[in-house]
Amino acid sequence: MQLFNKIFNIVGISITVAVSAVSVSAQYRLPASHAHQHENLIANQRPVGIDVNSAKLNSYLKDITQREALIDDEMFSYNWDSQSVNPYVGVEIPMTRDIDVTGYVAPVKGVVTSNYGYRPRFGRMHRGIDLNLNVGDTVVSAFDGVVRLTKFERRGYGYYVVVRHDNGLETVYGHLSAFLVKPNQRVSAGQPIALGGNTGRSTGPHLHFETRFLGLAVNPAALIDFENYVTHKDVFTFDKTAYEKSQKYGPVKKGRKAKASKSSKKRKSKASASAKTKKKTKKSGRRS
Ligand SMILES: [Zn+2]
Repeated sequence: MQLFNKIFNIVGISITVAVSAVSVSAQYRLPASHAHQHENLIANQRPVGIDVNSAKLNSYLKDITQREALIDDEMFSYNWDSQSVNPYVGVEIPMTRDIDVTGYVAPVKGVVTSNYGYRPRFGRMHRGIDLNLNVGDTVVSAFDGVVRLTKFERRGYGYYVVVRHDNGLETVYGHLSAFLVKPNQRVSAGQPIALGGNTGRSTGPHLHFETRFLGLAVNPAALIDFENYVTHKDVFTFDKTAYEKSQKYGPVKKGRKAKASKSSKKRKSKASASAKTKKKTKKSGRRS
């Protein structure tokens, strides 16, 4: 019995020791396994996170591709038969759009005689840039594309050509003397499309050149370096906000804030003052 007790006691002690050993080891193990769990959690989450991100990224890219494809699919069909310089009226304009302008060829190698922008003297926007030329000089397509319009407008563009390009832009060539292409004709960058002239609202031979994105006349100088006959970059990023800012130099409409009208007047008087001092500008001012 004593022996049994002794054994029991030994067992009891050993049980106690074992229990305390378990609890001790548990106390030590718990943080370890907890930390391990964290490791596992992080390790498990990492690929999950990547999957989520890549899935998001993929759907985002797919979305962009689909939207671009939509534009591309309709590139040469959207309102193609429109006789208007802007066939995109009512189309939702994206906030930004990258436009591939590689392959650009200067429509004519003449100096800039008038810039894009609001003309206070005439109270209207000049939606293109004027390039000097002689009547009969060859005018070429700036990019690859398809001719959409060849028309005459007595009080405006005179004889003019509109080309819709593969890169999403449309270009307008005004005051021409002759057409060398017909609507629906595919043209490549640098291909002659017309002869320069002095038709329409124009006081001297020049090319009125416009670059439009979804009908919006973008400042051609924003994408093209007219001194060197090249584009500034391979990709021109159309920015709706910047475009809209550039349009705010127009006449102040009724109902606008007095502050805006004041600053506009300031700009106006400043601009007309500089116009008065520059006789050269005045002389060629009526060119459009
Ligand atoms: Zn012009």
